Amino acid sequence: MPRLDDERKEMIDLLRERGIIDDRVLTVMMKVERHLFVTQPFFNRAYEDTALPIGKEQTISQPYTVAFMTQELQPRSGMKVLEIGTGSGYQAAVLAELGCRVYTIERHLELLNSARRVFEKLGYRIISRGGDGTVGWTEFAPYDGIIVTAGAPEVPEPLMNQLAEGGRLVIPVGDLTAQRLRIITKVNGGFETKELQGFKFVPLIGKKGWEKK
Ligand code: SAM
Repeated sequence: MPRLDDERKEMIDLLRERGIIDDRVLTVMMKVERHLFVTQPFFNRAYEDTALPIGKEQTISQPYTVAFMTQELQPRSGMKVLEIGTGSGYQAAVLAELGCRVYTIERHLELLNSARRVFEKLGYRIISRGGDGTVGWTEFAPYDGIIVTAGAPEVPEPLMNQLAEGGRLVIPVGDLTAQRLRIITKVNGGFETKELQGFKFVPLIGKKGWEKK
């Protein structure tokens, strides 16, 4: 649809203005149709730079957040990536378009099933499961990248343990009102951490996350 293509182009221009510099990330976000990942009442707002409700009190992340986190993950073609918090499936689709082999976990089965339907419709070979992602997914570990799309009280140790040498973990950490993005890189068997700007995410709920209300 030409109108949506124009709106997506405007979204990309805005991301560039806001400081996203990785052209591969911008190119892929120009290609992936975010409106296919949002629910009907919000269809017309799909290319606003804002998070939108997807049901179960969860959200599809703001495009700027997706772009920033993806850029920080430094994705390469063939890289094995674990995502915690499938949600709408949009972030997973962006990573798949970048050539990553994507594994994703979602605790709400209803959201997972609707994301799976979109993956199938669009032909993405993304491997997914329902459950608590704070313990990672040992079966396919280690991962070259792990991206957590919900806010954690602290970094879940199982995720650090499932990083490959040179791998990067991108995770928002903080309290329930605001988090800062942490980038943890596994170097020579140890971990290097840097802390970046603040974001506001829905909580990461699970054994190594926040307790369920
Ligand atoms: N990546 C998603 C997207 O592109 O739409 C963003 C989804 S939302 C910001 C975060 C998601 O994390 C929610 O769907 C939530 O249910 C999920 N979540 C929270 N805690 C989780 C956990 N322990 N394991 C798996 N998913 C979790």
